[in-house]
This record gives sequence, structure tokens and C-alpha cells, in this order.
Amino acid sequence: MMQKVVYPFTEKDQEQQKLSVFTAEKFGEIEQIHPKVVQALQESNYETMTKIQKEGIPQILKKENIALKSETGSGKTLTYLVPIISNLVHMGTDQKITREDGSYVFVICPTRELCIQCEEVAQLVTKKSKYLITGCLMGGENPKKEKARLRKGVTILFATPGRLLYHLKNTNSFLFSKLKYIVFEESDRTLDMGFKKDLEEIVEQLTQKVSFEEVQKILISANFNDSVESLYLKMSTQTIKYVGFAKQK
Ligand code: ADP
Repeated sequence: MMQKVVYPFTEKDQEQQKLSVFTAEKFGEIEQIHPKVVQALQESNYETMTKIQKEGIPQILKKENIALKSETGSGKTLTYLVPIISNLVHMGTDQKITREDGSYVFVICPTRELCIQCEEVAQLVTKKSKYLITGCLMGGENPKKEKARLRKGVTILFATPGRLLYHLKNTNSFLFSKLKYIVFEESDRTLDMGFKKDLEEIVEQLTQKVSFEEVQKILISANFNDSVESLYLKMSTQTIKYVGFAKQK
């Protein structure tokens, strides 16, 4: 039997138990990662975590808002998808999750290619939990078809900024009242590409429509610069944890 590591959820637990936070090497060694997720990962030969996954997954499980920075190819996609999907599978076991609940997760990506690529990884991780529906909203697609899909419900949604904003404003049947996570993939690049205003409007829409302070915020970037920070400050008054880097001032 593999010894499992249970990550403490509060600083107090951590002090009391004197647990080392970063001892797990494999996805399957973290108690909170659902066995169905571990199994799906194993079937695609993902077993040992990369450095950023070892650091980032416990923080996301602790429900921290995080800024996660590490070089391309270091495994950032699974760093957020594994804990998020795992939490959804746990929730889905206690209280059934159905697609009619609408979106629990928004992942905002700067490009169509990144949306498609991230959705493919999400499909792999949800392989044993088919009730978690993934989907994309992307500039250049037929908005009517997207509306029809949104009406049915998309649990984990990957979207380019302009198209997400369009549906937030124009699609009454777009369900996201249960939104729990918002991920900004390549947030520095998204801002560099001129999507600042769209992102701010998305934040404004969400602030009006859901308890946005309670939505867990995850910012992924290659460079955590002032514009990424000011985007975060527009979203939350809570402190943000830096993963993969120490913030320089
Ligand atoms: P990043 O977003 O940091 O650029 P990706 O998440 O795209 O990196 O991952 C880069 C590559 O590493 C992908 O091909 C992915 O399948 C692979 N990878 C990620 N995590 C692991 C892991 N734990 N074990 C083996 N390969 C991994």
C-alpha cells in the first residue's frame, strides 16, 4: 500500500502536524487527488509530478489564489487541471454534478490553439468522470452553435477573452452561477496581446453576476509583471500566493 500524503488545509494544521508540504513525488501519493483522476493520469503515463506540479497542486488544493510562473514545457496545465478536476470529482461524488449546473470552471486562453490544447488535457483527466463536460468558446467559431452548447451546460470551459465576454453579455442561457475557479492561462501574453480591456470587462461582468470574491483565481504566466498584478488587484482583496518564483520588488 502506498503511503498517502494529506496536505494540511490551514497554516495551523501545518504547524501542529509538522507535515512537510512537498514530500509527495507522485500524483497518487496525494490523498486529495481523487483515485479516478490518478487512474486516468496513469493510463496516459503521467505518474511522477514535475517540480511545478509538486509545488502548485498543494496550494490549489488549499484553495489559495495563486500566481504560478515557470518555463514553457514544465507542466503548468496539469498543475491546475489535476486539483480542480479532482475537487469536482469529489464534489460530484457527494452531491451530483450534472451538465445542467453550467460552468464550474473558466479557463481563459489568449489563442484558439491554446484552448484546444488545454481542453484535450482536460478530456484526458476527466476520462473516468464523463459527467464533467468540457468545451471551448473561441473567436471565429459560429456563436449560435456555441449558444446551443452553453444552453446544455459546459462544466469546464476554455475560452478566448472576446468570445467569452460576448456570451457573458449576450447569451441569457449561459449558466455559470456555480462558478468556482477562474484560470488565466498565459495571462502575461493575453495582456500583451491587447486583451486587457476584455479581461477587465469579464471581471466586471462576473463581479455583478456571481460571488466573485469566492471564486478561486489562478494566474499562469511566464513573467509575472505589473499588468498581471493589476489584473489580480481588480479581482480580489485577498493576498495571492506566488508559486514557482519569489516576487521581486
Ligand atoms: P507548460 O504549460 O508549462 O508549457 P505543459 O503543461 O504544456 O507545459 O506540459 C508540457 C509537456 O510536458 C506536455 O507534453 C505534457 O504532456 C508533459 N507533462 C506534463 N506533466 C507531466 C508529468 N507529470 N509527467 C510527464 N510528462 C508531463
